[in-house]
Formats: sequence, structure tokens, C-alpha cells
Amino acid sequence: MHEVSLAQDILAISMESLKNRPFEKVVVVNLKIGPVSGVDPEALRFALTVVTENTPLAGAEVRIETPPMRLECRDCRQEFAGDDSEFSCPACGSSRIQLLSGDEMEVVNLEVLERS
Ligand SMILES: [Zn+2]
Repeated sequence: MHEVSLAQDILAISMESLKNRPFEKVVVVNLKIGPVSGVDPEALRFALTVVTENTPLAGAEVRIETPPMRLECRDCRQEFAGDDSEFSCPACGSSRIQLLSGDEMEVVNLEVLERS
């Protein structure tokens, strides 16, 4: 299950970013998960609940932003919004398409309650 190892990576990245930051608790974890990243957001949420148990991230709200898929035609450089069915260029009909965005898997930031 791919989402569990991703959740472990997210936890590791988060802990690293919290290292030199005094905080009371982590309130929100902001993630960016592209629609063609192959990650199931609900499975990821569940995996995060499990792997963050007994860590500072336990109980934090997980917000997942889904950026739109963007494609570019390699022949005419037309940029267009992708969907699962459309893999040819709307301008010239070419099928030489490259993915510009939509496969992100990122920790955007953490919102913490600072230690007063
Ligand atoms: Zn084209």
C-alpha cells in the first residue's frame, strides 16, 4: 500500500521542518496532491491517522489541495487543462503531450500552535 509509505515520508518531512521551531501542537497539515499522482486522498488521510499516532502530528487536520492537471502539446506548445479522456492537443490534434502539472505530492506547510 503506497499511501502508507507516502504518509511516512510526510511525517518525516514534517518532523524535519518542526525541528527548530517551538510549538505546542500541529493544527493543520497542508498537502498538495495532484489528480494524476496515483495517490488516493482518502487512503492517504487514513494512513496519516495511523502513522502520526503518538507523534506531534497526531490529531492534526489534514487539508489536501488538488491542483488542476495541465498538459502541453510538444508540437505546437499549446497548454490545456487535462482530463482523463483527453490526451490529444485541442489545437493541432497531436498526441505528443507532456504533463506540466498534476502529479504533485508535496507538503505545502504546517500550521502550528506556537508555544507561548
Ligand atoms: Zn498541438
